[in-house]
Formats: sequence, C-alpha cells, structure tokens
Amino acid sequence: MPSPKTEFDAIVVGSGPGGATVARDLSRNGKKVLILEYGDNDPVKGTIPQVISRAFIPGKNVVITTQALPVIRAVTTGGSSLIYCGTAFFPPVETLKRYGVDISVEADEVRNDVPIEALSDELMGAGPQRFHESALELGYDCHKLDKFIYQNKCRTKCQLCMYGCPFGAKWNARHFVDDALEHGAKMINHAKVEKVIIEDKKAVGVEYRHNKETFRAFAPKVIVAAGGIGSPLILRKSGMRSTGFDFFFDPLVFVYGKVKGLGNGKAIPMSAGIHFEEDGIVMTDFNMPRMFKVAFDLQILKVKQAFAYSDVIPIMIKIRDNLSGEITSRGWVNKPLTKYDKMKLDKGAEHAKRILSNAGATDIYRSWTTAAHPGGTVKIGEHLDADLQTKFENLYVCDCSVMPEEWGLPPTWSILALGKRLAKHLMAADQTDKIRDEKVSVLRPEAAFKAVN
Ligand SMILES: Cc1cc2nc3c(=O)[nH]c(=O)nc-3n(C[C@H](O)[C@H](O)[C@H](O)COP(=O)(O)OP(=O)(O)OC[C@H]3O[C@@H](n4cnc5c(N)ncnc54)[C@H](O)[C@@H]3O)c2cc1C
Repeated sequence: MPSPKTEFDAIVVGSGPGGATVARDLSRNGKKVLILEYGDNDPVKGTIPQVISRAFIPGKNVVITTQALPVIRAVTTGGSSLIYCGTAFFPPVETLKRYGVDISVEADEVRNDVPIEALSDELMGAGPQRFHESALELGYDCHKLDKFIYQNKCRTKCQLCMYGCPFGAKWNARHFVDDALEHGAKMINHAKVEKVIIEDKKAVGVEYRHNKETFRAFAPKVIVAAGGIGSPLILRKSGMRSTGFDFFFDPLVFVYGKVKGLGNGKAIPMSAGIHFEEDGIVMTDFNMPRMFKVAFDLQILKVKQAFAYSDVIPIMIKIRDNLSGEITSRGWVNKPLTKYDKMKLDKGAEHAKRILSNAGATDIYRSWTTAAHPGGTVKIGEHLDADLQTKFENLYVCDCSVMPEEWGLPPTWSILALGKRLAKHLMAADQTDKIRDEKVSVLRPEAAFKAVN
C-alpha cells in the first residue's frame, strides 16, 4: 500500500492493454502513476485452477448474457491479454481518423515495443497447417496472421497461450505493467474502483474497495481503463449515465472436424486466417486448451466429442455484430443477436465446414455462440472527445470501450496505439498545465469514510 502522503500525477484504473500502455508511457516519462487493479498479480502458472479463477467465475469474469451467451474477460493484472490468443490485427486507422483520432504514428510505434510477426512454419501446429492448406486449395485468401509472440521463447505442441503462457513467449499487458513499476509506478491489486470523484465538473480522484474497506485516492488526471464492461459501470456511477449501451462484442462460433492421424491437438491458436471484409467475418484455426473444448462441447451436450482432443481441427468464425444491447447496472450483458448477426455466423460456419471437408475431416459439428471483445460502450464522438476526455475535465477513458463503431477484428493493437497517443497527449497537456501544485494523496479508510459521509 502506498503511504497516505504518496503523490501521483495520474491514476490508471485497470491494467489491461489500454491502462498498462498509458501507465508505462507516463512512468517512463517521469510521471508518478498509481494503478488500481481489481484482479490479482500472481505469477502465471499455466494451470487450470488459475485460469478458472481469472476467467471463469460467473459474474466476475465470465458474464452470461440474458440470451445465454458467455462473454469472457480476465480479471487480473494485464486484463484479458492474459488469456487472449496474441493475434495482431493492424488498427482501423482510417475509421478513427473520421472521428478526429489519428493513430497512424502510434500504430507503427507499437512495433518497437511488442513483437509482431507471423509464426515460423516450425511453430505452426499440424491443425493450423492443414486448415491453411485446405483453404488455399479451395481458393480462399488465407494467410498467416501476425502474432504478439516472442518466437524464440515459444514452443510447438503447446496449448498454454490462453492460460497466460508461463514461458513468457506471448506478449501480454503485464510486460508494460512491469515496465511501469520499474519506472516508479505503484500498483494496488484487489482494488475495485467504484466511481470517479468529481468536483466542479473535474475529476480529482477515485473511490475504490480494497480488503472490504473503502478508500479514496486523488490525482490531477484519472484514466479509466477497466475494459468494455468495467469502464461504463464506473462511469455511470460517476455521472455518465448514457454509457454502456449500443455496443459490439464480436460473437463467435467454432466448427470442429476430425482428421485421423493429425496429432495431439495442441497448437498455437489463430496462426492463419481469412478475412471476409465485406461480410464482416473472420475465420481462423483455433486449437484451444482441452478444458475449453470440454466446456464448449458439454454446452451443446456433445459428450462423446468432449473427450476427443487429438486429431481435431477447431475453426473459429468471428463476426462484426451490429451495435445494440446494454450493460445492466449489475454488470450483466443484455444483447440479443440480430438476424444479420446470425446470418453472418451461419455463412462463416458454412465456409468452415467446406474447408474442413476438403481437409478430409469427419464428425464436423458447430459450437454454441460465445463472445470475447466487448467494446464501444464509451464511444469516441459520443462520450469522449478526440483526446479521449469525457465531459468531465481530467477524466479520460482508454480501452476497448472507446471504439466508436463496430470493427469485428481483434482490437489489442488498436488499444495499444490509442494508449500511446493518450500518454503523449497527457504529457503535452501537463507541460502547459500551470496547476502543478495539486496535492495528491491516498487516504486511510477512516479518513475516506469521513470524507464520504
Ligand atoms: C479468449 C480471448 C481471446 C482473445 N484473443 C485476442 C487476440 O488474439 N488478439 C487481440 O487483439 N485481442 C484478443 N482478445 C481481446 C483482448 O484480450 C481484449 O480486447 C483486450 O484485452 C482489451 O483490453 P482493455 O484494456 O480494453 O481491457 P481488459 O483487458 O479487459 O482490461 C481491463 C482491466 O481492468 C480491470 N478492471 C475491471 N473493472 C475494474 C474496476 N472496477 N476497478 C479496477 N480494475 C478493474 C480488469 O481486471 C482488467 O485487468 C481476446 C479476448 C479473449 C477473452
């Protein structure tokens, strides 16, 4: 715990790709940053119990929609990048420019900070290779995908990407958090921020729960980066009631097929893919950890298939869904799929079946729908200006929630670029900011309660 007299230039709420980037770049430029993170900071073990505690606790990190779709996020230092697949899609630079946000420079700068490269042939597993070859044979524009992976640390026949990668091969936002901490940032884990403290229409700090007590922390800049679901919940309690509506969550389904003699089923997921840009569909190989496959199969009562893992090629179909729905005040998601969303999923699944059949697969079947990229809940142009500032001075948002429209592709590269741009903006604003004497402190809980009541 920082002492009550600790001073900070900025508070960053949440340590996923958005928060971690801002915290790192500010800290490297000499700013004192306090990171408040709801989840733990335990080292990645790559074990089933650890991934369950971080990503599968209903209500905390897996949210079941009113329509029975699971939406997965990870609550831990580094956020969902701990369980993500590490696939890098170049940001929608031109789309963001239409909203006055130019991240073309930062999108390239990200390449200096994180590994971005397609996997070598040696690292591509048997399933992904068969998917890739079969798609090319049928004339699809299928190509290897860029990955946020340090390939010299990566290994073949491994399935631990989504368990956090205990070998340090998959880049995740903890790398940036560690960098921020080395440059003087402080982090408090198990700190759940409830709301931003607003005085005279300016953000001055946050209120958070830690060890069943309420604390307040103060700083002249507050950056909310609690993710597509977490950020609107905090902002609504802070006076921005219209956040958390009409968002996207990139629904996806898997189609599985069995190719005899293919191998043990372990491979790095999303090694190759096809982007049907017009249709808003992306399709990739998706060898997942055994536990995930068992869970998805049991969801549709495929009991026999649940215990088949070797020789299986899973293919993921993810779509660009229409903006709709609401995050409820309790943090649940209410978002029915539209008929267009369902048609896209069906169309993608048909392509996948064709590719699997051509690859010689039998026992082809389709999973239930799930979702993994909630965003657009606190949109640029609606809730934020082009500098990611809210209607309250000194209150910024930087995570997947700021995306102004549906995009349908993995967003991490975009979030990293937005984080770098925001850090630059805050540094520049700081230089011209004459109010440098604001006192910043973390109060003891007794004092906090006095202040609250
Ligand atoms: C299974 C899976 C696979 C994925 N694969 C890819 C991929 O291959 N490529 C890609 O680009 N993207 C992928 N993604 C998406 C990517 O992981 C997310 O888009 C990205 O992590 C979002 O970053 P963020 O900063 O917006 O939020 P998050 O990563 O969600 O981080 C938010 C942080 O805020 C914390 N938090 C939440 N509420 C509070 C609170 N009240 N107080 C304090 N802290 C709080 C959380 O614990 C978390 O650490 C995948 C996601 C999943 C689930």
